[in-house]
Amino acid sequence: MDVIATQDLKILITGGASGIGAATARLLAGEGAQVLIADVQDDAGNALAEELGARVRYRHLDVVSVTDWEQAIAFAEAEFGGLNALFNNAGVVGFSGAENSSPQEFKRVTDINLYGVFLGIHCVTPALKKAGGGAIINTSSTAGLQGYGGLAGYVASKWGVRGLTKAAALDLAPYNIRVLSLHPGPIRTAMTDGLPDNIAQAQPIPRFGEALEVARMARFMLTEATYSTGSEFVIDGGAVTGQVLSW
Ligand code: NAD
Repeated sequence: MDVIATQDLKILITGGASGIGAATARLLAGEGAQVLIADVQDDAGNALAEELGARVRYRHLDVVSVTDWEQAIAFAEAEFGGLNALFNNAGVVGFSGAENSSPQEFKRVTDINLYGVFLGIHCVTPALKKAGGGAIINTSSTAGLQGYGGLAGYVASKWGVRGLTKAAALDLAPYNIRVLSLHPGPIRTAMTDGLPDNIAQAQPIPRFGEALEVARMARFMLTEATYSTGSEFVIDGGAVTGQVLSW
């Protein structure tokens, strides 16, 4: 199976105004992809789209709104002549545990991180079928592979994304649509702003990752991972492998 050329990608990226989403928009657009940056940060999203040039657009999309999804997908299809990829990347973190997380906070985090990913898959599938197939990347986390204290809603949502990816991969395989989950470890973005460097110190690669490193993984998943579906792509400095200890 041939590699998919980056310039043939017509992709919608949620959370595309910041961090990993913005780095991926920048990388793919630099190689000629048509990119719809979708976010709730309209000023940052519009500014990035303008910076990246004629093949990039911005659209307001709150991932928990069905109407926003339908309008953004219709917009992308009209602007690009179709859609063949979705990066379900938008997400939020809530630093609270099983006992001290308020029910509202747990629901907010799981709505955006999991229900929002479901809506993306659900709403974009007709467009990908029309295009003859495509790829969907769902952003999970190392928090979708193991537990972390004090992150109840986040861990629950990211395990959910990993499971949903497998279910959707099976449902959509007949339509030539690959569905993959992406599992970053600690990456320096607005989400981790203020977290201390020592969080990454016991990892085999003892540093925070950069958004560009994740963007390169996402590009690989979209263009070269043609024999993978339902599977986990881990980019975590070895964090889930274990801790480097000296006795
Ligand atoms: P970020 O805060 O820089 O970017 C997240 C983006 O999502 C922002 O632009 C934000 O406006 C957008 N967003 C939030 N709620 C939204 C909504 N309801 N609708 C649409 N957009 C919304 O953070 P990031 O690190 O780039 O995070 C991207 C993804 O990577 C998230 O899913 C996050 O959980 C995941 N992740 C991040 C790390 C990390 O260490 N940074 C690690 C593992 C997984």
